[in-house]
Amino acid sequence: MGVPFYNFTKLHHEKFNLLVKERINNIIDKNAFVEGEYNASFEKRFSKMQGTNFSPLVANGTDALEIALEAFDVGVGDKVGIPGISFFATAECVISVGATPVFIDIDLKTGLMDPESLKRIVEKHKLKAIIPVHIYGLPAPIAELESICNPLNIKIVEDAAQGQGGFLQNGQPIGSSNNLTTFSFYPTKNLSAFGDAGAILTQDEKLNERILQIRNHGRSPSGHILSGHNSRCDHIQAAVLDLKLDEIEKNNLGRKAAAKFYNQQIKDLPLQYPADSYLALSSWHLYPIQVKDQTQKIALQQFLKDREIGSALFYMKSLPEELPLQQCDGEKEKAVEFAARTICLPMNPFITQDDVTEVVAALRDFFKEQ
Ligand SMILES: *Cc1c(COP(=O)(O)O)cnc(C)c1O
Repeated sequence: MGVPFYNFTKLHHEKFNLLVKERINNIIDKNAFVEGEYNASFEKRFSKMQGTNFSPLVANGTDALEIALEAFDVGVGDKVGIPGISFFATAECVISVGATPVFIDIDLKTGLMDPESLKRIVEKHKLKAIIPVHIYGLPAPIAELESICNPLNIKIVEDAAQGQGGFLQNGQPIGSSNNLTTFSFYPTKNLSAFGDAGAILTQDEKLNERILQIRNHGRSPSGHILSGHNSRCDHIQAAVLDLKLDEIEKNNLGRKAAAKFYNQQIKDLPLQYPADSYLALSSWHLYPIQVKDQTQKIALQQFLKDREIGSALFYMKSLPEELPLQQCDGEKEKAVEFAARTICLPMNPFITQDDVTEVVAALRDFFKEQ
């Protein structure tokens, strides 16, 4: 039968398509192409959903990270701690502002930044900021990281590109902390545009003002007061996002139900899966499992492919193994092992119990042959 990894046909159903076309026609009629009423509506509603005061939209999730670092005055000569497991943009934004990434190792069970590793790194490196990532939608241990960073005045930018609708370990929404939190609305994320978009969440009015200036060429009522970016969000993207807010909660419940069913079905197999304690918190952007080693991972991916079951390697390599980052200092050993062993199973809001049963039956057959 097969199980697809994503399901855009169900996400963009007939009624949604009709409503979104109405909005796009409205934008064309009004000639309001960059920023507009849908941006304002989305920013207000998304702030409320994620438990924060401000969530200015920007052009994409990578810009969101870069602008967040700039808002904290991170620049040339500064060091920024990042985990070895993330999308490349988590490292790229550091290099883009002229700073240097330093790797903090991860927890082998989750791929999340490990506070113990951070404790060792801050002994050796004077960090200006860290970027913990809520990878796969699992919440990073923000309270523990804050207890290390706050006394040393190390700023925290939470990369929540994969965390829309998810919760921190304290049960509050991702984005509700006093850090800066960045989101991406790339088409594959839980909440997604028809192209690129991102947002930066803050509780702080002054930081919000600064972000608004940086995203729009440093513009202020009295002229250009700093050199910023063109990182405004298109009105059409905001219109799509604002409409999709109506369905994000329902869609995330679909993901959570699938994760719960996976966890029940997968228990007796020789692999590692996300702990039940994350069921209520994660946004379940992805469902990662860890197998024995890289060879077994590659074999499993082929086995699933032969049965038309989608899977994906997030991430094929750890960040410290990527060519432009190989010289970066820090702790990386566990990230390398984690990437070698991790493969993501089909996860989207529309996965049924039958789908999960089919995927797990395939895993069972695979491990019989191992
Ligand atoms: C998608 C993603 C980004 C980058 O977002 P874009 O909108 O594609 O620029 C950054 N970090 C993580 C963890 C991501 O998954």
